[in-house]
Amino acid sequence: MAGFVPVDPFDIVIFGGTGDLSRRKLLPALYHRDTDQQLPESSRIISVARSTMSDEENVQWVRQCLIDSLGDDCIEPEVWERFAHRLHYLTIDLTGDDGWAQLAEMVNQERDRIQVYYLATSPGFFGPVATRLGTLGVIHDNSRIVLEKPVGTDLESARAINREVGAVFSEQQTYRIDHYLGKETVQNLMALRFANSLFEPLWQRGAIDHVQITVSEKLGVGTRGDFYDRTGALRDMVQNHMLQLLCLVAMEAPTSLDQNEIRDEKIKVLRALRPISGDDVKRKTVRGQYKAGAVDGETVDAYRNEIGNGEPGKESGKDSGTETFVALKVEIDNWRWADTPFYLRTGKRLPTKCSEIVVQLRPVAHSIFAPDAGSLLPNRLVMRLQPNEGVTLSLMTKEPGPGGFKLRSLPLDLTFAEAFQLRYPDAYERLLVEVIRGNPALFMRRDEVEAAWAWTDQIIQGWETQQVKPEPYMAGTWGPTASAMLLDRDGRDWRDPVDD
Ligand code: NAP
Repeated sequence: MAGFVPVDPFDIVIFGGTGDLSRRKLLPALYHRDTDQQLPESSRIISVARSTMSDEENVQWVRQCLIDSLGDDCIEPEVWERFAHRLHYLTIDLTGDDGWAQLAEMVNQERDRIQVYYLATSPGFFGPVATRLGTLGVIHDNSRIVLEKPVGTDLESARAINREVGAVFSEQQTYRIDHYLGKETVQNLMALRFANSLFEPLWQRGAIDHVQITVSEKLGVGTRGDFYDRTGALRDMVQNHMLQLLCLVAMEAPTSLDQNEIRDEKIKVLRALRPISGDDVKRKTVRGQYKAGAVDGETVDAYRNEIGNGEPGKESGKDSGTETFVALKVEIDNWRWADTPFYLRTGKRLPTKCSEIVVQLRPVAHSIFAPDAGSLLPNRLVMRLQPNEGVTLSLMTKEPGPGGFKLRSLPLDLTFAEAFQLRYPDAYERLLVEVIRGNPALFMRRDEVEAAWAWTDQIIQGWETQQVKPEPYMAGTWGPTASAMLLDRDGRDWRDPVDD
């Protein structure tokens, strides 16, 4: 593993410090970085939420969160003592006036050090909290603000947040998280493309037939029903994670890893996305919503029942027009990708949890083999973000033996866990360190977020004006049949991630 260089002394204030994100991701990420001795002795973690808790109760609560997320044996006495010492808690209702003075007093004790304000709250608080921090007078050149996704719910609300936050924090101080960008395998996509000369000549319409990006979940909406029903799969997954992955696959080579070079190339891709509007809305998009079914042999309820307390199996829950599945055919209007579509699909209650990018090359121009040699399958480069992070490249090979010339597709397999034999750090570990270091390259710039919303808003408007309702699909299947038809019409099919 690359060595750990300690970061400069910092304080992090986590708004929403008792929430799910803090519990499962932020606190464990900071604990791991402390375990590797990357955090300076004096750095503090100040959690803020409405719940009333003393510092001591917060310490016990954090300990339990770490055990729940990382397992019983994660508490190494020496590390835990150091970590517990950093923890502070303040009760503040973000909509009220109480408690802010204590926060100001606390951060001003170490006024000149790096101060990270992490908004692990709903986006409705982003603007007001930034404004409040501005009036408290605690912001200086070493302050940074981190905004969790989603930044807004459409272009207009994203612009309003960006304006309000931008009035207090400069763009350089603003870190809009898309945690996919912190995943090791997403970083590796850059290494694969730009640290190997093998791929670049092939990375274009002449050699690539199409690209597929799948992000699937087995879980349903669980306890996030209210949030999800207002959001849907397009806003929750496509506007951010999936468009970011598409950009990294489709962008031109940046001249360096400088923060703006990469983001300049990604924004060019977003601006080149062909709008999906008019008749294309029905031709190039598929919306779905899961019904009851079985995932991994276990019976699961319909979406409507999960969000609205319906009677199991009867679909008597809340009537909802929210999509839990979306598939899209996306075209990029530039020289590199003309006529090479990108197919995107994501959904809940699908057969497996996986995130992968499949780059399918064009078939060979002419076969010299006899028909009984077997089908000549096009080469596929599969980048798996989870599970079993790695890369496979399928190649046609000759089956060994004297019994005629038989062809078979076999994968060249680079599974990172086997190659590197180490724990894969969670994306939040890397992202938090990048924030503290002041490197926004792995975060979304204001223009990127707004360009992504501008493109997705058109689809949402098309669905509304043309009354495109989600089509039902059985939980445990790969979405509505219209999703298979989307590719079938183009003579293609989705790769089944279970077929490795
Ligand atoms: P959550 O579990 O509902 O937590 C919300 C947090 O905000 C709690 O700490 C809550 O604490 C606090 N809060 C709510 N209203 C408040 C108020 N008026 N004043 C002060 N604190 C308040 O939500 P979450 O899942 O952690 O998600 C937080 C944000 O991150 C959301 O925007 C979500 O979309 C995003 N996100 C979450 C995840 C994830 O894995 N959970 C992943 C990506 C993005 P009190 O109730 O004690 O006040």
